Amino acid sequence: MNIAFFSSQPYMQQPFAEHNRNYGFDITWFEARLEAQTAALCQGFDAVCVFVNDKLDAEVIHTLASAGVGIIALRCAGYNNVDLEAARAAGIRVVRVPAYSPEAVAEHTVGLMLTLNRHIHKAYQRTRDANFSLNGLVGFNMHGKTAGIIGTGKIGLATLRILQGLGMNLLVHDPVESPEALALGARYVPLEQLFREADVISLHCPLLHDNYHLLCRESFAQMKDGVMIINTSRGGLLNALDAIDAINNGRIGSLGLDVYEEEENLFFADNSGEIIHDDTFHLLSAYPNVILTGHQAFLTHEALAAIARITLDNLQRLARNEPCDNQIN
Ligand code: NAD
Repeated sequence: MNIAFFSSQPYMQQPFAEHNRNYGFDITWFEARLEAQTAALCQGFDAVCVFVNDKLDAEVIHTLASAGVGIIALRCAGYNNVDLEAARAAGIRVVRVPAYSPEAVAEHTVGLMLTLNRHIHKAYQRTRDANFSLNGLVGFNMHGKTAGIIGTGKIGLATLRILQGLGMNLLVHDPVESPEALALGARYVPLEQLFREADVISLHCPLLHDNYHLLCRESFAQMKDGVMIINTSRGGLLNALDAIDAINNGRIGSLGLDVYEEEENLFFADNSGEIIHDDTFHLLSAYPNVILTGHQAFLTHEALAAIARITLDNLQRLARNEPCDNQIN
């Protein structure tokens, strides 16, 4: 099987090349994203291997089908960037990596919380300049505060385990109750109560049609003054312009984002020499109480190795026409 590997970066290519010694696939690495403008590169490949910001809409899927591609292998869990109906109609099978390291994402989530709370990002800059003033660096004890976790799947649970260790009260919201979350002492509450009572709110649900902009003007209005919001899930879950208003009026005290609704043309590339035509992004990056990371919550050696192993295994199963639990259409 020959595979066109899109959005290739050295940190991803290395574990795939290493694990591919056990599979022997013929992989061609493309740094470009897969989108309408690059879909023609797929001519003659059996499969494409893609990541979160590759855009597999109906037009791209039509081009893939005409080029002879029969498999889309996602190197991620979320599949909101793939038109599954178009893939089904074109007879293209889609596989994903439902879980590779929930702990990697959870640890980054809590890293953002602690950095924002204790102003570590500011202290890092100050001490490099021999400025040891502590003014403006006062944080709060996480112990005894209330966390509101939206989504108690794999990553939500891993986050709850860490926050329980910090001694936080745990409020959660999810249409499906997890016995594991209950065993950790978490209480399932309606979203409105979570908004009202939580000091720190963290998103761990997928982006679906019915939860687009789940965090918006109306939801911020229900929250405590000075609430901390963390989004390591998907950018579209949070209305960034409404968040900026809520920062300006003091409702949001701090904001940690690993994902951003308009990240598609920004993230996973060095744009430091470019003029970025996105005023919302500029505003967000100017606030001292906002930290942005570029969709890196998954980025640990353990997670990358698991992504490579599971993706190549998915491809091998489909190549051999064996059942594959990770097939999503
Ligand atoms: P999961 O499928 O294990 O859990 C998702 C949970 O969300 C489920 O329990 C589901 O019932 C719940 N849910 C669905 N809709 C909801 C809603 N409207 N409100 C509350 N809960 C809802 O998924 P996971 O592995 O925990 O991943 C969660 C999300 O994290 C993924 O969808 C993905 O968007 C994101 N993610 C981000 C990164 C990163 O690097 N930043 C990496 C991996 C995953």
